[in-house]
Amino acid sequence: MNTNLQTPVDYLKGVGPSRASLLRKELGIHTYQDLINLFPNRYLDRTKYYKINSLQRNTADIQIIGVITKFKEISQKRGKRLVATFQDDTGSMELVWFRGHKWIRENLKLNTSYVVFGKTNWFNGKFNISHPDVELKTEHENNLRSAMQAIYPSTEKLSNKGITNRVMTKIMQNLFLETKGKFAETLSKKLLENLNLISKSEALFNIHFPQNIKMLSKAEFRLKFEELFYIQLQLILKNLIHKSKIKGFTFEKVGVLFNSFYKEHLPFELTNAQKRVLKEIRRDLGSSAQMNRLLQGDVGSGKTIVALMSILIALDNGFQACLMAPTEILSVQHYNGIKQLCKNLKIRIKLLTGSSKTLDRKKIHESLENGELDLLIGTHALLEDKVKFKNLGLAIIDEQHRFGVAQRSKLWKKNTFPPHILVMTATPIPRTLAMSVYGDLDSSIIDELPPGRKAIKTVHRFDSNRLKVFKFIKDEIDKGRQVYIVYPLIQESEKMDYKDLMDGYESIARDFPMPKYQISIVHGKMKPADKEYEMQRFVNGEANIMVATTVIEVGVNVPNASVMVIESAERFGLSQLHQLRGRVGRGAEQSYCVLMTSHKLSNDSKTRIETMVKTNDGFEIAEVDLKLRGPGDIMGTQQSGILNLRIADIIKDNDILKHARYCAKQLLENDPSLGHPENAVILETYRQMSKYKNIWNYIS
Ligand code: ADP
Ligand code: MG
Repeated sequence: MNTNLQTPVDYLKGVGPSRASLLRKELGIHTYQDLINLFPNRYLDRTKYYKINSLQRNTADIQIIGVITKFKEISQKRGKRLVATFQDDTGSMELVWFRGHKWIRENLKLNTSYVVFGKTNWFNGKFNISHPDVELKTEHENNLRSAMQAIYPSTEKLSNKGITNRVMTKIMQNLFLETKGKFAETLSKKLLENLNLISKSEALFNIHFPQNIKMLSKAEFRLKFEELFYIQLQLILKNLIHKSKIKGFTFEKVGVLFNSFYKEHLPFELTNAQKRVLKEIRRDLGSSAQMNRLLQGDVGSGKTIVALMSILIALDNGFQACLMAPTEILSVQHYNGIKQLCKNLKIRIKLLTGSSKTLDRKKIHESLENGELDLLIGTHALLEDKVKFKNLGLAIIDEQHRFGVAQRSKLWKKNTFPPHILVMTATPIPRTLAMSVYGDLDSSIIDELPPGRKAIKTVHRFDSNRLKVFKFIKDEIDKGRQVYIVYPLIQESEKMDYKDLMDGYESIARDFPMPKYQISIVHGKMKPADKEYEMQRFVNGEANIMVATTVIEVGVNVPNASVMVIESAERFGLSQLHQLRGRVGRGAEQSYCVLMTSHKLSNDSKTRIETMVKTNDGFEIAEVDLKLRGPGDIMGTQQSGILNLRIADIIKDNDILKHARYCAKQLLENDPSLGHPENAVILETYRQMSKYKNIWNYIS
């Protein structure tokens, strides 16, 4: 096109150097291209006018038609303010300026019809608008090309420096004049036709100056689709490139260990979800690309057996495997469980944790290096440099959220080829996010619990009902059950939390006296040995009640525990609540989760508690969590550009996202290199995007 969209915005009529520098600083607008992509936040109906006698306090974006009847200057602490009396046929109000008096006195005329625009305030028994946009009524009518007026994102600095919405609109108009409103098409003919999309130029015009509602929604759809489409394209391509570049070991066969385990030693029938997931993993392991798969499944969905069977495939192919868990307790549990499951197979398994003795350590290191050891289970002690495998083929990581990406990549370096990696997590990534942020992340989902589980019943109780809750706990203990009582531990106020825990413990100790009741207590300040001792008392059934901070979040498996009481539940996040609840419901008995809160609840807390009461489905909970906290928070770090969408919203526009993803996939299936002439425009746009924006920060 004639105008180069990479032209600095300084050169646009109506901008100039000082405005340009403001636009750069405040909105990150450097070029024409950036400006055209500054999409309005919302639109105003410019044909709607208010009457002065029907005004409400603090309403933004109000238009009133009237005349100025007089001006007066009023002295105040600092300087003066200029006040105009403005009236229509229903009453009068004030317009107020704190700056720019001279210009206003010279340019605004008395008893002439104006349209004023701004936000109402209530002051001294009167409505006023300070620093209103003022437009001659005749001009307003001439300018009214469209009933819908775009409202652009702004900042305090911008409006203070006179870049009001009206100025912004004017600048945008100049941009369209200069470019003649002609912009290069960025989607292929085929996509435009198949999806019945309007052209780029039409879309851009209508997003800034909507001709009518229908055109606006067409423009929005087209631009959202385009935005999501290119992100998906990039994610999918990235994944394909990863697969073609990173070679892995090919596990060609499923051998004796796997088969004999499957036929003779499997203690139960696998659920359909487990079977499906195993198939997905087997397919990955059998290909020549390195597996990098996330295994998501709610607590208790049976991920361990899937991990074990994957390990058996590795061993069948002559490789070693390791299984890493975030805590000592959890790795011991895995070690014992897997040893038990494999007792009839000839496998050499060892446990390595921070508390392994030096001599044992040495032996483990040796047997790993000479290949005598098949499977190593442990904590991040596995990542130490001294731990060298002869041929590590598969690494499994349990409870991903406890390990950073950096730690994971350490595992890679333990071999010439990176081992296949399976990451297991009970905190599901909301599907919405998985799709948009991770694109084609390989993920397997166990969405079915083993048969015979009773759904946990969750209730919400206020602190004032504590005695009733205690009574309920006593009844359950009388039936032979065990109970968890959990207190929040949040770093910033650790001291206070610790006090809460101790106070709670004392009051529980009073209400549940010895010797009838035995209470074990576990918290972060204890020595590991004491912690272990207290844990064991609960695990072996000696203690009926465990009072704990969130250290139990990942870690204990006591099928006889059927009640989880969470104190100050309003202070926990949703996924944490869900994790905690997963500690019960592991046995044959009906289990309960009691969420205790005070009466003062924020709206978000209410939503969290209601969600917990309503559902046990981890994915549903993850979606609510995403809506409450927003994508940035969930992912921890800012996933650079990916979540900074210009127009689409990955939550609200999820349907468009799915469609965009489908289209991107189809396109790449038919034309993997985008070499087809009809896709030239897509290739070009894609290249431009990668050139001007460094967006990709992919987790794998
Ligand atoms: P998680 O996914 O939380 O790691 P586990 O692997 O610990 O779950 O499994 C939870 C419990 O369910 C274990 O006691 C396990 O033996 C049992 N389990 C797993 N799969 C099945 C199945 N298909 N049928 C019956 N019980 C199963
Ligand atoms: Mg587990």
